Amino acid sequence: MATTTHHKVVIVGGGAAGISVSARLRKEVDDIAIIDPSEKHYYQPLWTLVGGGCAKRETTQRSEASVIPKGVNWIKDAVTSFDPDNNSVETAGGDTIGYDVLIVCPGIQLDWNKIPGVSDTLGKNGVSSNYTYDLAPKTWEFIQNTKSGSAVFTMPSGPIKCAGAPQKIAYLACDYWRSEGVLDDIDVHLVLPTPRTFGVPVFADALDEVVADYGIDLHLMSELESLDSDGKKATFKSMEEDGDGFTLDYDMMHVVPHQSAPDWVKSSPLSTDEPTGYVDVDKNTHQHVRYANIFSLGDAGSMPNSKTGAAARKQAPVVAANVLAQLAGGDLSKRYEGYSSCPLTTSRHKMLLAEFDYSMEPTPSFPKFINAQKPRRDMWFLKKYGLPFFYWNMMLKGRG
Ligand SMILES: Cc1cc2nc3c(=O)[nH]c(=O)nc-3n(C[C@H](O)[C@H](O)[C@H](O)COP(=O)(O)OP(=O)(O)OC[C@H]3O[C@@H](n4cnc5c(N)ncnc54)[C@H](O)[C@@H]3O)c2cc1C
Repeated sequence: MATTTHHKVVIVGGGAAGISVSARLRKEVDDIAIIDPSEKHYYQPLWTLVGGGCAKRETTQRSEASVIPKGVNWIKDAVTSFDPDNNSVETAGGDTIGYDVLIVCPGIQLDWNKIPGVSDTLGKNGVSSNYTYDLAPKTWEFIQNTKSGSAVFTMPSGPIKCAGAPQKIAYLACDYWRSEGVLDDIDVHLVLPTPRTFGVPVFADALDEVVADYGIDLHLMSELESLDSDGKKATFKSMEEDGDGFTLDYDMMHVVPHQSAPDWVKSSPLSTDEPTGYVDVDKNTHQHVRYANIFSLGDAGSMPNSKTGAAARKQAPVVAANVLAQLAGGDLSKRYEGYSSCPLTTSRHKMLLAEFDYSMEPTPSFPKFINAQKPRRDMWFLKKYGLPFFYWNMMLKGRG
């Protein structure tokens, strides 16, 4: 039977962002509910290592129940619509849940169908993607099966989560193929829609060296347009107005889908006018531009930062402080300045840590003598062991 309930703070989505912000608010607010239908919580950054054969996918997953902070209510249901004029949301189960303050963080939608030919062949015929828990191990299987021929790694245009992930897997694969003595027998193509490998020049310079070292054929300003899985051919279009498209044969392919806000967010009164339809918030305070008691963070927000868990970690304390200010009727004083970081695995033993903010200037966390702007061995251990430990034990507990 449909019910109507009310909570002081309602959080839509119990992922990286939702759990982190709830853990921070729980200390001050006694009535918080997280709405999330998923039995599982995933540490997605490790999916790159799963696809590269360096981690087991089971280590990336825990039960949702185990990460919900004590004292926070978990409503195991999916939100289907927002009614901001009446301060409530509707769920798939038919319930109406009211709030004083709403925090929207249901993550991002993978738009597989935007590239004809892709969704039918995923996980088969050498085509995979690290962007889902189920497919990441397939990537590793296909990398191992490839001994010669052509391997293609793609990235779509538009905002995606972890914009470094499409190229990280190319480097992990090349390192493996080199260790097997077959790299010279494989034509490796990395196809990016951007003018360079990275938006911050110092990191792009370092990555150019990695690309050259592996002998990767780098195609810039291009993206996958369609896939012919029977003929094993991929067609690419140019991002430049008068640019020419091209076709590549492939034996193995790693595809990253276009991404946007979930459709039910896009069609709601909370979204921006843009086709990606993210929740329309101020990029510094995270407050909705039309509804003062609504906030958003994580991948679903319209902030123009690079969408990562690392960004959500910096956003959570800002949102928590501003939500408390909103509940108390005060001014929103905390600001997020766009910090994001991308741990770029350049081999199965090395990583460089790209940290930057809205200024697109490097913002290193480590002291100068640890130059993480170049691939380093110690950074690999940070990626494989340090960051997952920090995620489960600090970030999700509202610390760090
Ligand atoms: C391959 C890959 C590699 C990555 N690498 C990195 C990296 O190296 N470093 C890094 O910092 N980040 C990385 N990321 C990105 C990072 O995982 C995300 O940015 C982060 O998880 C975003 O957090 P979020 O809470 O916004 O979304 P999510 O963590 O995706 O959580 C969204 C939650 O919302 C729930 N939800 C969905 N629909 C509904 C609904 N209708 N109602 C209620 N709840 C709903 C979901 O069940 C989920 O629990 C990577 C991601 C991928 C896929």
